[in-house]
Amino acid sequence: MNAKVNTPAPASVPTFADGIGRADFPILSRTVYGRPLVYLDNAATTQKPRQVVEAMVDEYYNANANVHRGVHYLSRQATDLHEQARDTVRQFIHARSTTEIIFTRGTTEAINLLASCMARRKQGGEVIVSAMEHHSNIVPWQLNGFKLKVIPMTDEGELDLDAYDTLFTPETRAVSVAQVSNVLGVVNPIDRIISIAHSHGVPVVIDGAQSTPHMAVDMIEMDCDYFAFSSHKIYGPTGVGVLYGKEQLLDQLPPYQGGGEMIRNVSFDHTTFNDLPYRFEAGTPDYIGTHALAVALDYVSGIGIETIHRHEQDLTHYAIERLSQIQGMHIYAPDTLLASASAGPVSFNIRGIHHLDLGTLLDRLGIAVRTGHHCAEPLMHRLGAEGTVRASFALYNTRADIDTLAAGIERVCHMF
Ligand code: PMP
Repeated sequence: MNAKVNTPAPASVPTFADGIGRADFPILSRTVYGRPLVYLDNAATTQKPRQVVEAMVDEYYNANANVHRGVHYLSRQATDLHEQARDTVRQFIHARSTTEIIFTRGTTEAINLLASCMARRKQGGEVIVSAMEHHSNIVPWQLNGFKLKVIPMTDEGELDLDAYDTLFTPETRAVSVAQVSNVLGVVNPIDRIISIAHSHGVPVVIDGAQSTPHMAVDMIEMDCDYFAFSSHKIYGPTGVGVLYGKEQLLDQLPPYQGGGEMIRNVSFDHTTFNDLPYRFEAGTPDYIGTHALAVALDYVSGIGIETIHRHEQDLTHYAIERLSQIQGMHIYAPDTLLASASAGPVSFNIRGIHHLDLGTLLDRLGIAVRTGHHCAEPLMHRLGAEGTVRASFALYNTRADIDTLAAGIERVCHMF
């Protein structure tokens, strides 16, 4: 699985030697252990631009009031910001209607919501997931009584679509797969995954946690049935996420949690429920967070997601090229990563060095990478690894960051 590659950046890619928008991210100019921070843990969470943090402070200082509840000025202003945010999300992912945009706490809650509501609508059945799913696309289905069928992965890190086609049975309730793997960085062929599922009459859930920050996603073109992503991975605040669902499918699901805002009328004998999307949004939403997410999405749109994608793709290619030159380096699925035009994370191990040791020593050099199983234990078993080191990129990263990482790894190698 570790083909040695030496790939120059695609010729047409403009390189942003200084990264994009670095000056907007104050945290990037701090030091750790007296060294300049090199932040390469963006798949876990991205740093936040000034614009996002200032929007939150501004709303708390100037427009804070609970949404949807008050007739007073501030409440209407906060409600407007919250509902405008819903429309910004709709536009960003190109959904048909704001009724299809449900605010959640993140990708994890979005998938839990779906699994729970689908189970309440009809108990049991099977859900097809892939061998490279994050735990948040495995455990919610198990908790809600679904049996998992797994799309196998080849040694090159590709999903085996022939095997996938054989997994459907009359019991199949959904297919749920990541668009981009948070470990391997590969972009899965979701167009084919969706069309095969639809040919069996089965709806598809796409985990967009690792795709939405790096590439254009378009609900109408993709034709998935549900799609989830997290604000904090796309320069927005923590605690906010989105579940998109086709209106006619959401309409058939029972509510998720009970409480304020999700009801139409309540009595001790009988309760009726609100319209979409509020039916799935019990309680006070994180309206400061949703507004700040919209500011983050506007920030991304202002630069252009295609520009960001090309820059990050250049970084991914450059990282594979630089890291493959290091003695004992094992990069996971580099060929598929390159072929899938990914701007995703790069996972690796160095022969003879434990991933945790490597991560800890890189940290002392000011380099933040992720180590461990990345919440994808079944994938680790498939790779025969206990864990990996993962470097993941954002718009503000530079080729120089990757040079620092490569030099850091070489330094650690000399110590062992
Ligand atoms: N799916 C994938 C592919 C992820 O990378 C992550 C975050 N690591 C999640 C789901 C869960 O996202 P969150 O923790 O923001 O809910």
